[in-house]
Order: sequence, then C-alpha cells, then structure tokens
Amino acid sequence: MSNYVFLGPPGAGKGTMGAMLCTAYGNIHVSTGDILRAELKAGSALGNQAKQCMEGGGLVSDDLVAALVRKRLSQTDIAASGFLLDGFPRTVPQAEVLATMLAEIGLSLDGVVLIEVAEDLLVKRLVGRRLCPTCGAIYNIFFAPPTHADRCDTCDVALTARKDDNLETVRNRLAVYWEQTAPLIGHYEAQRLLARVNGSGEKNANFSALQATLHL
Ligand code: AMP
Repeated sequence: MSNYVFLGPPGAGKGTMGAMLCTAYGNIHVSTGDILRAELKAGSALGNQAKQCMEGGGLVSDDLVAALVRKRLSQTDIAASGFLLDGFPRTVPQAEVLATMLAEIGLSLDGVVLIEVAEDLLVKRLVGRRLCPTCGAIYNIFFAPPTHADRCDTCDVALTARKDDNLETVRNRLAVYWEQTAPLIGHYEAQRLLARVNGSGEKNANFSALQATLHL
C-alpha cells in the first residue's frame, strides 16, 4: 500500500482528486481541513481554538494540527490501506514533524504530488464553490452550477458556501500558501519525492494525469 501527500494551493483540487484516488485504490483520505471543520462544527475545545485562524484564512498552530495527524496515522487501518494526506504538511516544520512521526509509526512516504493550477482559476473555483449540507455534493456557480439556482440537484436543499471561500479570505489563503506552504516544493524536490500534475483541466482528465504520474 502506498502513502502520499497532496500539495498545492487552495482550490487546486486536492480534496476532489484525493477522494477519487481513495475510491479507486482504497487509501485512507486524511484531510486536516475536514478534521478541523468537524471539530468546529462539534464545538469542541480544539475547534474553538482553531476557529479564528480558519475563518481568517490563516494557519492553525503546527502543534495542534500535528497532534491530530499523529492520532489518525497511528490507527491500524492506515498501515493496511495506505494514506493520502490532504492539507498536511503546510509548513516546513510540519513536514519535519511528519517525517519523525512516520519513522516512529514505521511508515514512509511514497510520493508527494504537487497539483498545479493557474491563480485566476483557483480564485474562481474557491469563490464559486457551493456545497450541499445534506449529501456533500460539490457545485461551482461558474463551472458546475446546479440545475436550479443555489439548490442541490439530488436533495433539493439550499446550497451553502464555506465561510473561508469569500474573496477576501481566499486572497489571504493564497498569500499564506505562497509564503508558508510553497517552500515545501523545494523541500520535497530535494528528497526526490515530488511529482507535478496539471490540475487545470476537467476532473477526469486531471485524475488520468495523476494516475499516469504515479504509475497507477
Ligand atoms: P483546507 O480545507 O485544507 O483548505 O483547510 C481549511 C483551513 O484549515 C486552513 O485555511 C487552515 O486554517 C486550517 N488548516 C488545515 N490544514 C492545516 C495545516 N496543516 N496547518 C495549519 N492549518 C491548517
């Protein structure tokens, strides 16, 4: 079983491609954004701690996120199925913690995939993103709108937008990516783990490119 990290700016499609890869090959999708949003929704102490950073588009502390990842990667299903880390690591210190953590658990990384997308497309993908609160379906008002404005095609409930998908927060998230996360590209290139995939196309074409890159 293989273990991957997906790297790329917000809106690159890490979640979408991650879900496709996990459905096809059985890896376990570990998204730190999803874990943090679940904590926020549950109103846990951890969620409250992360709330302000998340809503402003900044990063939650390395220690907090690393503890969540360590807990998930230590569970027995991970070694059996392989993992796909989506949204972690996001800083060089997080990558260093990950390397130590994996060595302690007895796992290793098989590849880091950088999903590359032009910046103007990223903004449209994020600002236009809408979610069905019932079934989780993802729409985009520019590229994949629902049949009836702002309602889920399947559930007929009103679609919602993520709180951090407004233009101001999106700009901040992109700035944070270039400042704090992009240095990971060189970090993993130096370890010969990095592979680049074009994520600008339609999702099935992007996924085929990913499969080819990873020789799947
Ligand atoms: P995402 O769903 O990956 O876009 O993450 C949503 C938000 O969760 C980010 O804007 C951060 O505030 C927080 N977050 C997710 N992953 C991390 C991480 N590895 N380090 C710090 N903050 C994170």
